[in-house]
Amino acid sequence: MPVFHVEMRWRCSACQQENLGRFKDCQQCRKPKDGEPFYDAPEGAAPTVAQAVVDEQLIRQATAGADWSCKFCGSHQRRDSGLCGNCGADQSGAAREAKYDGAQAAPQPKSKKDWPGRGWAIAMGVMASVLTTILFFSWVLRTREVRAEIVARSWEHKVLVERYKIVASEGFETPSDAFDVVNQGQRFHHNDKVQDGTTRESYSERVACGQECTTTPTRCTTNNNGFKTCTGGDQKCSTKYCSETRYREVPRYKDVPVHKDYFSWKAWRWAHERDVVESGTEESPRWPSDDSVALEKNCGPKEKERADRRAIYRVVFKEEDGAKHEFTAQTLEQFQELALGESRTIRVTANHEVTLVP
Ligand SMILES: [Zn+2]
Ligand SMILES: [Zn+2]
Repeated sequence: MPVFHVEMRWRCSACQQENLGRFKDCQQCRKPKDGEPFYDAPEGAAPTVAQAVVDEQLIRQATAGADWSCKFCGSHQRRDSGLCGNCGADQSGAAREAKYDGAQAAPQPKSKKDWPGRGWAIAMGVMASVLTTILFFSWVLRTREVRAEIVARSWEHKVLVERYKIVASEGFETPSDAFDVVNQGQRFHHNDKVQDGTTRESYSERVACGQECTTTPTRCTTNNNGFKTCTGGDQKCSTKYCSETRYREVPRYKDVPVHKDYFSWKAWRWAHERDVVESGTEESPRWPSDDSVALEKNCGPKEKERADRRAIYRVVFKEEDGAKHEFTAQTLEQFQELALGESRTIRVTANHEVTLVP
């Protein structure tokens, strides 16, 4: 920030002549200056850079220090003058502090000090809310261990039978072992994206459009010698950006349908044939009998069958407060250990997943 000095004015109390700050006696009636206050020129307006004194001698005078008051004749004199210009007294023996009525210095803006504990208080507040959130979620998503009674149990034994047989299929691609292949004609396969001219599209771009300038505020303090020393008043400029609409050509596409030959065929495949299920609530589950599964009993020529077994063992636990939890036993042994009416300790997650506590 630039530092500059501006000259003030004072008004002669005898003849009312306005005098420049540099003079220590009235330029009209020659009365030595005494207690007349200095004021800004023009009166009431804040000093500007344009008013800065450039003459080297005036700058020296502005920075020489406050005027002194002669204790013999009362006149005000420049700090850099050794003798009183009015009565000739020596500054070293005659100087008093020059006193002016009223505050010459611009009032200093009070700096607002942050409350010293403020940062800590904010940090503590954030920590408290994070802890509360963690506690809340750990309570909601908590895994509980409870004592519960077995109130229901059921089992299901399923035999899944697959048969190797002639299966009819269709599609664009025929497998190598297909037979009785029939071309069903052309069918829609997919759409190709094909460019079909261009479209004009608008977009916005940031472009420089002149300057944006701010002037830093001017702050001055009186030197009590007819001058003020000021800082600020300089301009800071930055490039200003505007949004501008522009246009460009972008390719446009259209869908072009592609057709391909479609076939039907037959092939030997393993395919799901039937499920045979036994279920119940008894202590000891049983599998469907060989008679009811009837593997390869009804096969045609060259056909084969194979079977796969699936078991599901369900147990329902009931808490003292009535809440029920379904549990699936992993093995028949585990299912048989969980007898009706027995009490066990179980672990229940927030997702109602149940595990046994050994
Ligand atoms: Zn005068
Ligand atoms: Zn004097």
